[in-house]
Amino acid sequence: MRAAASPRRYGPLVDGLLAQLRRQGIRDPRVLDAMSRVPRERFLPPELRAYGEEDRALPIGLGQTISQPYVVAFMTEWLRLDGLERVLEIGTGSGYQAAVLGLLAREVFSVEVLPELSARAAEALAELGIRNVRLRVGDGRRGWPEEAPFDRIVVTAAPATLPEPLIVQLAPGGRLLAPLGSGEDQVLRLVTKDAAGRLSATDLLPVRFVPLVGDDPTPVLPSA
Ligand code: SAH
Repeated sequence: MRAAASPRRYGPLVDGLLAQLRRQGIRDPRVLDAMSRVPRERFLPPELRAYGEEDRALPIGLGQTISQPYVVAFMTEWLRLDGLERVLEIGTGSGYQAAVLGLLAREVFSVEVLPELSARAAEALAELGIRNVRLRVGDGRRGWPEEAPFDRIVVTAAPATLPEPLIVQLAPGGRLLAPLGSGEDQVLRLVTKDAAGRLSATDLLPVRFVPLVGDDPTPVLPSA
């Protein structure tokens, strides 16, 4: 089930954002098109909506942030979506990245540890008619085992090391993107799994995400 096609938005703000994304190296026309269809301001608290098209991260409450549009576009481009994928997102946050993914993939499963943010994201997605994004409240370090495997996994909060369940839940031929590290010392890593299950990794970009925290203090151990 694909998302209902949200209308392409026009106007100087959207044009400005698209021009900026192009300047920063975003080339995939489908990604640029999806970025133009999702009104980012709808995922912001009312008092910040005027800044929706600005290319910077913004606070969404509870100490969390909505990602910078460039980073959303960059990650989406590197996921190489052709519309048939089942995607797992860790860190729903505002729901903005999930909405963009919903326009480009078959189905999106997104896990958020803070119930209040998940509820707000659900409301925004419903209002925009995006129906192929499923949300769950919980510790994303465990992934979403009942729905695994996933063709793509995108982590939007930074762990020190990649939680093992996410690697396990990545399908053969799949791609995973995650910021790794702490504080200002983070890098966006691409992990691919080939048809035989072999992993390889490439570091793509220095980034700055909020930390991936658990709902319990014990680290997640590899599932048997
Ligand atoms: N993708 C979001 C930005 C995410 S900010 C957007 O488009 O707006 C990172 C989010 O990850 C925060 O909402 C934070 O609460 C959440 N998070 C942190 N640790 C988590 C965990 N263990 N499981 C699920 N979500 C987590």
